Amino acid sequence: VKVQLLGTGSAEGWPNPFCDCASCSWARTHEVRGQSAALVDDELLIDCGPEIPRAATRLGISLSRVRTMLLTHAHPDHLGPQALWWRSWGRTAGPLQIIGPPAALDVCRPYLEPDDPVELVAVSPGDVVAAVRHRVTALAATHGGPEIGPAVLFDVDHTLLYATDTGPLGEQTLTALATDYAAVLLEETLGTAAPTPGHAEHHDLAAFGETVAELRRRRAINDATRVIAIHLGHGNPPGPELARRLASWGAELHPDGTVLDLPDRGLMSPPPELPPRRVLVTGGTRSGKSLFAEQQLAAEPAVQYVATAPPMPTDDEWSRRIAHHRDRRPATWVTVETGDLAALLARPGPPLLIDCLTLWLSREEVWADEQAVETLVAAWQATSRTVIAVTNEVGSGIVPATASGRAFRDALGRLNAAVARASDEVWLVVAGIPQQLR
Ligand SMILES: [Zn+2]
Ligand SMILES: [Zn+2]
Repeated sequence: VKVQLLGTGSAEGWPNPFCDCASCSWARTHEVRGQSAALVDDELLIDCGPEIPRAATRLGISLSRVRTMLLTHAHPDHLGPQALWWRSWGRTAGPLQIIGPPAALDVCRPYLEPDDPVELVAVSPGDVVAAVRHRVTALAATHGGPEIGPAVLFDVDHTLLYATDTGPLGEQTLTALATDYAAVLLEETLGTAAPTPGHAEHHDLAAFGETVAELRRRRAINDATRVIAIHLGHGNPPGPELARRLASWGAELHPDGTVLDLPDRGLMSPPPELPPRRVLVTGGTRSGKSLFAEQQLAAEPAVQYVATAPPMPTDDEWSRRIAHHRDRRPATWVTVETGDLAALLARPGPPLLIDCLTLWLSREEVWADEQAVETLVAAWQATSRTVIAVTNEVGSGIVPATASGRAFRDALGRLNAAVARASDEVWLVVAGIPQQLR
């Protein structure tokens, strides 16, 4: 199956032609994205915003072979019905089947000539339709009301899931998904911009990670599935930063025009055995290192969160800090309170997030116990799990006033260096911006 991304941008594209924010300025000089649409095997077009026919032409593609058009909803960035006129003037345009929700078909009707060989097929969520060459399932989107649809997402042959526009998926959709899609085109409209009204009807970057995690839990996707972010808007950070965020979740960012060669269903290769991934994240206090570490695992179906802090029941400020961190973590994460990190690392299981090594070292005089440190480093080196450990970058600030403070600082410096040596990735977070050291 060949899937070509005719566009990967949000309604107004990225950049917004009328905007000079940092994100739009970056996009204008590096990567211009138009309205989102996809073309399957040159004959099934999914969404047809007003920019799409010209985008196809500029990519060197003829749309004359399109026999089926899937429409997700009637918002004007997904449906420019004038295209049906332009199409009817083509000399080689054959019959066309348009599949979409009732409101989208209503938008098309005024643009159909009486003798046009066009068939309109209304769908609602749950319907399965035989398209010319494909089996298409409509699924409920979390997007707008009946006046634009009701909006749907499309499952094509249980191979491709086309999921825009939508906020986080509802239970009805999650249970109707197939398993092991070859590719999922999932919208990520809002990026990291502050929440805007109506943002429940689109994904921001954090919600995208959560949806990917949910798709993994439901086995709709596996490690071989290509998950691609589309419908991208200027709330997103510049491309390389966005690509890095997506890559940490196993998701991809591609320019308009990209062709995906997907295996037909049944030829799906089994998910590859993933090598262990040992990640050390260091940074100063309030640098954003914990948030960065959490984001790295946000698309995992399950995570064990290891709280290494010794209990401090009498300290209110401390308890509030801990509670704040806990509230930020997804409900599916399990918290383990232990100082025995080596035992956890030796056991198979879901990814581990250790937050943090500094507190672990401060427990029960561990910092003075060289054996305990060596055992931890050996377990880190030998683990088969995905594990991310957060630590503090100390030593560049003021010199501790006490001898034990100085000894602790030195012990942490040595521990960080030893763990870093045995890590596959090492990150330094400064002012909320992660820098990859390895
Ligand atoms: Zn849209
Ligand atoms: Zn929309």
